[in-house]
Amino acid sequence: MFFNPASVAIVGASQTAGKVGYELLANMIAAGYKGKLFPVNNKAATIEGLKCYPDLESIGQVPDLVVIILPAHIVPSIMEQCAKTGTKSVIIISAGFKEVGEAGRKLEQRVIKIARQAGIRVIGPNCLGVIVPANHVNASFGGDLPHKGGIGYLSQSGALLAAILDTANSNGIGFSKLVSIGNKADVDELDLIKAFGEDPETTVIAGYLESIANGNDFVREAEKISNDKPILLMKSGGTGAGAQAASSHTGSLAGSETAYEAVFERAGIIRCFSIKRQFDFAQAFANQPLPASNRVAVITNAGGPGIIAADAIERHGLEFATLTDETVKKLTETLPPAANVHNPIDVLGDALADKYEFAIDVVRNDPNVDAILVLLTPQAMTESTATAEAVARASNEKGDKPFFASFLGADKVVEAIRVLRDNGIPQYDSPESAVLTIKMMVNYVKWRKRPKRVVKLFAVNRRKVEMIVEKRLRQGIREIGETESKEILEAYGFVTPKGSVATTADQAAGIAQQLGFPVVMKIWSPDILHKSDVGGVRVGLKNARDVMDAFDLMMYRIPKKMPEANILGVLVQEMCGGGKEVILGMNRDPHFGPLMMFGMGGTMVEVLKDVSFYLAPLTAEEARQMLVNTKTYKMLVGTRGEKGVDIDAVAEGLQRLSQLVTEFPQIQELDINPFIVGPAGMTPIAVDARMSVEEI
Ligand code: ADP
Ligand code: MG
Repeated sequence: MFFNPASVAIVGASQTAGKVGYELLANMIAAGYKGKLFPVNNKAATIEGLKCYPDLESIGQVPDLVVIILPAHIVPSIMEQCAKTGTKSVIIISAGFKEVGEAGRKLEQRVIKIARQAGIRVIGPNCLGVIVPANHVNASFGGDLPHKGGIGYLSQSGALLAAILDTANSNGIGFSKLVSIGNKADVDELDLIKAFGEDPETTVIAGYLESIANGNDFVREAEKISNDKPILLMKSGGTGAGAQAASSHTGSLAGSETAYEAVFERAGIIRCFSIKRQFDFAQAFANQPLPASNRVAVITNAGGPGIIAADAIERHGLEFATLTDETVKKLTETLPPAANVHNPIDVLGDALADKYEFAIDVVRNDPNVDAILVLLTPQAMTESTATAEAVARASNEKGDKPFFASFLGADKVVEAIRVLRDNGIPQYDSPESAVLTIKMMVNYVKWRKRPKRVVKLFAVNRRKVEMIVEKRLRQGIREIGETESKEILEAYGFVTPKGSVATTADQAAGIAQQLGFPVVMKIWSPDILHKSDVGGVRVGLKNARDVMDAFDLMMYRIPKKMPEANILGVLVQEMCGGGKEVILGMNRDPHFGPLMMFGMGGTMVEVLKDVSFYLAPLTAEEARQMLVNTKTYKMLVGTRGEKGVDIDAVAEGLQRLSQLVTEFPQIQELDINPFIVGPAGMTPIAVDARMSVEEI
């Protein structure tokens, strides 16, 4: 009903040009809307030649769609009328709701309550409206009706949508639907990506969002839809997750954007950082086939742009296609001797359209080529328009390889660019932008081919963890310290260093003797989170004397530094050597759930910030990818003859942790730092750990 209404009532239609109530009606008329239009205004008899109605009831039939443009405080009474007359789809353009504060929020709730009771779906309030070019619907005050095309667009910002429309209109970009969701009091981003996902006219979903409401549902649906249609999103503003006070390393390293990045990666969503980029990508996704792989061929009439493209291809990790001998032979036979017959193929500055056409034809049939980028600079002899037509012919003829163009210049290429656009060939103002777009397409193809997600379940001792967590929650204690955290980890298959607690120097020496030297001594207090910060960790204690001295020193110094801390004793621990220190962690995002973290561990985590995040539950593949995404990875696999560590063991640690936090939603934050990993065959050890829990 929103997208293809047979009749539309505009409540608050106005006779005064420049007012929203007039512009919206005028836009509907200008769009050539074929259905019935009912302006509702109790002061006017006609507007723009259309009969006016004093209210919805007097129309005498139920409009498929009602658009409301009246001041906010009147909107509830109009909604009552909608409920009474039986309209099921309402767009509320009016502002003055949630966005203006508490009173507005209450008003919005009232409106939505009426809608829910009557089974009415609402877009808005505080929005720009809905546009469907194919159905001649422009129920918005955003601007002229854009071209018809494959892009379904949703925007949380009305003003931005106006800019998007303008950009798209001047670049000939077409849409299936455009929706401004405003305050999204009812219809939200999830409803729309689902609707666009099912809409046969929409081939690409694009949007601008400031927040995402139902985190988990959104991820699930977006992931499903991305398998079919690419989703390109601009996203601004934080989740608020970063705003909560974090006591763990993981919590403090998870910025407000971390969750979104992880969500987008998981769901295959292509993130765009500007309108320009979004349309650079969208026009390619909407009009060209996906490349089979990443081998790009470049055809140019000038060396410079060819080199720029080549640099960009390398920078973005794409491959410069190596042409087959047959292709090279054909090119050599026909192109002038000075031409470059290897990629980038330079047809030379004096090339007419026929040379381009020949080169394009040979190259697109080369099995080593997945994507074709045609560059052109308007030199003295260049036939830019005829060349554009040649590219169009090639692209239209055989549909399995994507074409991209970057015709550089201005006045001399205007007509050529129009030809390219009319034929759905994405045109870029620089070779880099074209290459970046190819990269996005290649990434998306890779994502679509990803292996099926299989989350391994390990045999664990849940009961044990339940007992500890419940006990702590009963006592109202949120922080779980090192010893109990390690018990929890052991229940999930982690190995922790041997050791026990001592309250006197003699006892400490005794434990050390039993463990065997060297040992590590750590202060044991529920009030000290980061022990080394207060001098509470001593490693490499070689004999009983060292142990007793270390004990005395800690007991003397730490109470001075932290007079409030309740010090229970020290932990004497076996010393783990011969490995690298990494950190495994989790921070629970309020919208998207557990975010797993991997990174360089030790006491410098926050300084180095070499970490990566991903949404739990993790598959083996995803856990490994988290490692690969850090710089630490290079160090872990071994450099300069140094032996690498057991990567699979680290990935397994992440998977076990992911299972723990999935099974225990009470756990809010968690760090294992350090997790000491050695070469294959050596069991990794969770040396230090802490977590926090919350009643759920
Ligand atoms: P905290 O993080 O509270 O300061 P840790 O227990 O993580 O305390 O210890 C700090 C550092 O001391 C570790 O990053 C590690 O380098 C070293 N360390 C601690 N315990 C051991 C151990 N059992 N074996 C080897 N090194 C250890
Ligand atoms: Mg630590």
